[in-house]
Amino acid sequence: RALPGDPLADAVPREVRGALHTTVMPTPVAAPRLLAWSREMAGELGFSEQDVQAPAFAAVFAGNALLPGMQPYATNYGGHQFGHWAGQLGDGRAIALGEAIGRSGHRWELQLKGAGRTPYSRSADGRAVLRSSVREFLCSEAMHHLGVPTTRALCLVATGEAVLRDMFYDGHPQLEPGAIVCRAAPSFIRFGHFELPAARGEQALLEQLVDFTITRHFPHLTGDVAARRADWFGEVCERTARLMAEWMRVGFVHGVMNTDNLSILGLTIDYGPYGWIEDFDPDWTPNTTDRRQRRYRFGQQPAVAYWNLGRLAQALSPLFASAEPLQAGLQRYVDAYVAAERAVIAGKLGLADWRDGDDALMAAWQDRMRDAGIDMTLGFRALAAIDPRAPSLAPLADAFYDEARRERETPALLDWLARYAARLAGDPLPQAERSARMRAVNPRYVLRNYLAQQAIERAEQGDAAGIGELLDLLRHPYEDQPGREAFAARRPDWARDRPGCSMLSCSS
Ligand code: AMP
Ligand code: MG
Ligand code: MG
Repeated sequence: RALPGDPLADAVPREVRGALHTTVMPTPVAAPRLLAWSREMAGELGFSEQDVQAPAFAAVFAGNALLPGMQPYATNYGGHQFGHWAGQLGDGRAIALGEAIGRSGHRWELQLKGAGRTPYSRSADGRAVLRSSVREFLCSEAMHHLGVPTTRALCLVATGEAVLRDMFYDGHPQLEPGAIVCRAAPSFIRFGHFELPAARGEQALLEQLVDFTITRHFPHLTGDVAARRADWFGEVCERTARLMAEWMRVGFVHGVMNTDNLSILGLTIDYGPYGWIEDFDPDWTPNTTDRRQRRYRFGQQPAVAYWNLGRLAQALSPLFASAEPLQAGLQRYVDAYVAAERAVIAGKLGLADWRDGDDALMAAWQDRMRDAGIDMTLGFRALAAIDPRAPSLAPLADAFYDEARRERETPALLDWLARYAARLAGDPLPQAERSARMRAVNPRYVLRNYLAQQAIERAEQGDAAGIGELLDLLRHPYEDQPGREAFAARRPDWARDRPGCSMLSCSS
């Protein structure tokens, strides 16, 4: 079904009060072309390979046509950005097409990102550039295969239209190719969806949203209304805690953890100026607009999530007779994070169980990696190859970024390895099982910033094959894939300070 005329009619930017969403049509684009798609998501949604390759598929997921039953809308939310209340934000360039029940029986909301203006676009264009769309498409699927809760991506479509962006914020905007990602998730509801009606005193709307969210997405919660709401908040806290532990496990830095970018389901959502830790540094952030304050740096993420949950608690407080259930929920965050972090420590170091002192052992290893300039992914992967009876630095040979620092830190590294070997000597796991377990939680392949950038640059030249190649690699991040060793290598020197490779702007 083709789109009805005048799709912009209801996309006039405005304050939308008393409503959680607005009906709005995608704005058709000039020349939809399918660049990449996820085999798993297509299968789940019942699309065959033939369906996907048909021009009608690219047309629908570029926003040029609708399938029967699709009823597009954009949702209304607010948020705290970099610590400050920002008022109404909303889906400024995301348009939901509707929901589908997948083959697995799960519910999927499909959402186009970059499909044109909505009432929430403010002064922006509602579009997305190819580079940021490739990054979202690849990373959300990569995270799924790593076992990290995340929104998914069905496909990536080029629009055939140019988009104007000031990537370097130097007052010289450039035309870039545009693209649209179709994202999929059980829900895209964010903390900010609750904050906005709360800030406006729209309590009936807030209650409606809370009870809808519980009934639809937390159906296992039972009891009276007050008990269900309290348990629900506690579960949101726990899921968020587990998500933070997972980001810390794999070395993912989200980059913009504003409350409008935190999912109520505990999913990774909104892939913007994110990055992956290379030479280990807890203070690193890829987001150039946060380089001074570093609010969203790697090591700060669990604390920021807690702060964000505090904002959510504040928004929900009119629904509770006292602060006690909300405080109990926040305590569940702390407890769940401590438990999840211990499991991550034991898993990454190959210990049968977490014991007192293991967090200090992990902290010392992280200090060694930081001081010696060791690649996080390679560093942990190498630990699985350490022989506890004769520990040496040999398995770490390819993990160093700087020869001088390697030499300087060698004595401290050997000290740490001796300490680690002593801990392993008191651990019941047989070495072969330990190594196998370690390789199942310490990935060999992650979406290194420069790998994504190479695929983007190829795609900008008209060759989208690099996107599919990376997606294929990242389907099995924990397996050694013969012939693909180069994709596991540490960041090359040329990529160190290059935009797109280690520094990302919010301009997307
Ligand atoms: P973000 O920082 O990407 O989470 O976006 C914050 C807000 O800006 C959200 O309300 C987005 O919908 C909106 N936004 C970002 N980029 C655009 C754009 N190109 N057009 C319209 N709205 C946008
Ligand atoms: Mg966002
Ligand atoms: Mg964004």
